[in-house]
Amino acid sequence: MSDLFEKIVSLSKRRGFIFQSSEIYGGLSATYDYGPLGVELKRNVTQRWWNSMVYRHDNVSGLDAAILMHPTTWKASGHVDAFNDPMIDDKTSKMRYRADQLIEGHIDRLRRKGKDDEAERVYSDLVDALNADDAAKALYDIIMTEEIRSPDSGMFDWTEVRQFNLMFDTHIGPITNADNKIYLRPETAQGIFVNFHNVRETGRHQVPFGIAQIGKAFRNEIVARQFIFRMREFEQMEMQYFVKPGSQMEAFEAWREERMQWHIDNGVRPSKLRWHEHEKLAHYADAAQDIQYEFPIGWQEVEGIHSRTDFDLGAHQEHSGKKMEYFDQLANEKYIPYVVETSAGLDRTILTLLCEAYREEEVGGDSRTVLKFHPKLAPVTVGILPLVKKDGMPEQAHKMEDMLKEHFNTFYDEKGAIGRRYRRMDEIGTPYCITIDGESVEEGTVTVRDRDSMQQERLPMENVPGYLIDQINNWETS
Ligand code: ATP
Repeated sequence: MSDLFEKIVSLSKRRGFIFQSSEIYGGLSATYDYGPLGVELKRNVTQRWWNSMVYRHDNVSGLDAAILMHPTTWKASGHVDAFNDPMIDDKTSKMRYRADQLIEGHIDRLRRKGKDDEAERVYSDLVDALNADDAAKALYDIIMTEEIRSPDSGMFDWTEVRQFNLMFDTHIGPITNADNKIYLRPETAQGIFVNFHNVRETGRHQVPFGIAQIGKAFRNEIVARQFIFRMREFEQMEMQYFVKPGSQMEAFEAWREERMQWHIDNGVRPSKLRWHEHEKLAHYADAAQDIQYEFPIGWQEVEGIHSRTDFDLGAHQEHSGKKMEYFDQLANEKYIPYVVETSAGLDRTILTLLCEAYREEEVGGDSRTVLKFHPKLAPVTVGILPLVKKDGMPEQAHKMEDMLKEHFNTFYDEKGAIGRRYRRMDEIGTPYCITIDGESVEEGTVTVRDRDSMQQERLPMENVPGYLIDQINNWETS
């Protein structure tokens, strides 16, 4: 793990953003709990996503489908047969890897050494292997030919590549047998597809329209060593947009643009975001691109935009025997709509925001760690800090707090030296701190400190809410 990544993991724990799940028992790998600040950040992100997807589009409705679904859902969607990752084991260290990721790592190393031609050749072999009928064998052959060594032990002592299904299964009801096996959903999308007619009819929608959902998904990932980047239980923010066949590329382009802008509007610098085209299109897709962020662990996917054709609705029609067609009154024709999907990881968005916000700065010979979150996303918006714990300052500070609580998440802190309190607020990303001093008690004015510039401005207390709203609306990434 890189230094920076480790610092972010450590700050997340120390300040109460993210904890290892079941830590007192030694932890459960690739599962995490969001602490008091993490949960606020998460709520702000989901609210912002919901506003932009559901409230800003008259033709998009929300849904909250169950995690457990009829098992045939996953047969129809292709997950039972094809939701596999190729795994390979290092016989010496007993460490397990994803074969495709080992090869990607090898390609990255070649590029870093300036061996671009060789990297291109292996990349093209990788694309062929992923599309081969026997992908496991083809990936194994590349690892052998390229003599790719184990990243941990440095050995070249591999097992065969085997396909591993990523779905968690369990049983419904009191009897455990093959007939009542069900799955924890590996994506939220299928809950949307099976409710296509329910939402269309009750929402009185006509194609094109969308269904949006935020919820948990579960994948028994082979390799999960990168904090909340790859978890076994995670959350997705997905929207399926149903369109007339033939118009999917137009919708694909429009959503691509909107979704990239959403990340930029969250305060992510455009230079840290890029598009990545899939090496292998999923069996159902006719176009797919990912939004990648430059994490300290490299460029990685945060969100996928996929044109899924009529595969899902068609498959559910076939397996359920229920019509999934739509009668288009304008065109006077019946068809199964095509689907453009936007699928963002909530946890990967949180990780993006943490990495993007994390800065270490030198200030007047001193150093500070600061999380420069967008003020609309910051877990705490305003810190309320009486200079000392006496002389009427706490009382005046509580008055200020009452005026702000209605609009913002505030945090009251009267303990310790004021400089230390500012540093603590910087470290959790609080964009504004209000200090209440002797003048505040006598004259009713307070100072507002800006996290990024560290400038302070004195204002009458009653002007503070309006001032903060202006500041938040005009905030720009630095
Ligand atoms: P990857 O290639 O990284 O495994 P994917 O292409 O399988 O991801 P999708 O199936 O497209 O991912 O899922 C949509 C989004 O869900 C991803 O962009 C990512 O943000 C999130 N996601 C998928 N798997 C995980 C995971 N194991 N942990 C956290 N988030 C995940």
